[in-house]
Amino acid sequence: MIRPYILAETNWKHLKDANFNLAVLPWGATEAHNFHLPYATDVFEATAIAEKSGEIAWKKGAKVVILPTIPFGVNTGQTDIYLDMNLNPSTQFLILKDIITVLDRQGIHKFVLLNSHGGNNWKPIIRELGLLFPKMFLSVVECLKVVNRNDFFDIPGDHADEMETSLILHLKPELVLSKENWGEGKERKNKIKAFTQGWAWTERPWSKITEDTGIGNPNAATKEKGERFFNEICKKIGQLFFDITEANTENLYE
Ligand SMILES: [Zn+2]
Repeated sequence: MIRPYILAETNWKHLKDANFNLAVLPWGATEAHNFHLPYATDVFEATAIAEKSGEIAWKKGAKVVILPTIPFGVNTGQTDIYLDMNLNPSTQFLILKDIITVLDRQGIHKFVLLNSHGGNNWKPIIRELGLLFPKMFLSVVECLKVVNRNDFFDIPGDHADEMETSLILHLKPELVLSKENWGEGKERKNKIKAFTQGWAWTERPWSKITEDTGIGNPNAATKEKGERFFNEICKKIGQLFFDITEANTENLYE
């Protein structure tokens, strides 16, 4: 069945008289995820969350369209991990600027970027684009941070961990290697405490901080945890899409 709110699936016959007011752009990354998860993990996550959330909003009557997912992200810290792709932040700015130009010209003035990859950093880019496109309402959602992960998962982590393994077990089980292949996702911490505590930041050279490219032990991951987490996220983001389409974005503050 063709979903009318998914741009990649719909067609000119449906679209020539369409009138969307919110466009959603999922943006992921292509990179190693421990030994056992697919390189497109972040792409599958962003796409599935955008599509399900779009469905929820569409069924409430929101005129939302989900654009095709951008598959490459900022991977400046993974230069020596084989076939990890990298788009520089300045390239991302240019890509996003071109996409916003189309939307602005065609009168779709509300926009959500749905990000699933930690290395992508949208706030400075969206701040700058906001100056260039004063008619556009631009926003970003970190789609894996919508709910508190501690309510769903037992072991902390931030890459190819229990959370991501559970999600992919739910979304693409056929692409997850069997459990004996899962690495421990053990992270080597910076010797300078400020960086480990998180109040100072420096790029983490991936191959120096993890053996298997994972950060966070995936051992307790299950399909059921992934499904619950996914559904909660999509419920909240679906409501957000609906709220944005309903809102007068010129008059948001009470
Ligand atoms: Zn990921």
